[in-house]
Amino acid sequence: MEVERVSTGSDPIDSFLKGGLETGIITNVFGESGSGKTNFCVQVAAHLADQGEKVVYIDTEKGFSPERFKQIASDEALENLVVNEPLDFEEQEEAIESLENIVEENDASAVIVDSMVSLYRLKAKGDQYQEINQRLSQQLSELSKIARKEDIPVLITNQVYTSFDEEGLELVGRDVPRYWSKCLLQLSNEKNGVRKIEIEKHRSMPEGKSAQFKITNSGLDTVDEKGLF
Ligand code: ATP
Ligand code: MG
Repeated sequence: MEVERVSTGSDPIDSFLKGGLETGIITNVFGESGSGKTNFCVQVAAHLADQGEKVVYIDTEKGFSPERFKQIASDEALENLVVNEPLDFEEQEEAIESLENIVEENDASAVIVDSMVSLYRLKAKGDQYQEINQRLSQQLSELSKIARKEDIPVLITNQVYTSFDEEGLELVGRDVPRYWSKCLLQLSNEKNGVRKIEIEKHRSMPEGKSAQFKITNSGLDTVDEKGLF
């Protein structure tokens, strides 16, 4: 059976991912603040919406900017987005509980959650930690089920923190999003506004494989030969 991929509309990202986002699984784009996670989401949403496809967009931190969207897509494309803005972890839970119906009613081609863990992070403290982790896991399980059942890509973003026990950056939520995301992509900032995308986990590509891109008005673009723009 061939793996289906959905174009992100970005040349460097599509060529890096051999066609785009895989359907049927959760792709998790993680990285530090300002590394381009929200831009990645808007790129995908704008490209699909521009083609008349419906996209369910769960925005947990007012990261979505219609102005930015319209730099990439036509004004009318905005109507193809079904936006939900949960204000706390309970509302995020409700949004995900009703998601399957919303996807089916709209015949949506993708689900985007930016970010999966910002409201979780506010809640996951002290003695509630285990229960909150379980609820995050439940939400990711539901997203994974929707990806499979509807055969669409689910794109989530994930904040990181500096881990002192292990080396480097750790995902907020740690093993929970790591387990449920069949594709993990790390974004980071390099010099001169150049961004790097690197595979941390993938079903058919090696860890550590990376590519460069840049953020421009038209979305996630190719870095030219000189690395300048
Ligand atoms: P956070 O974790 O804080 O949400 P993020 O990873 O989602 O961060 P983004 O919001 O995607 O990061 O990226 C912010 C970067 O995108 C900024 O450096 C900003 O300069 C750049 N950016 C946004 N719009 C444009 C544009 N039209 N042209 C060039 N760069 C842009
Ligand atoms: Mg963001």
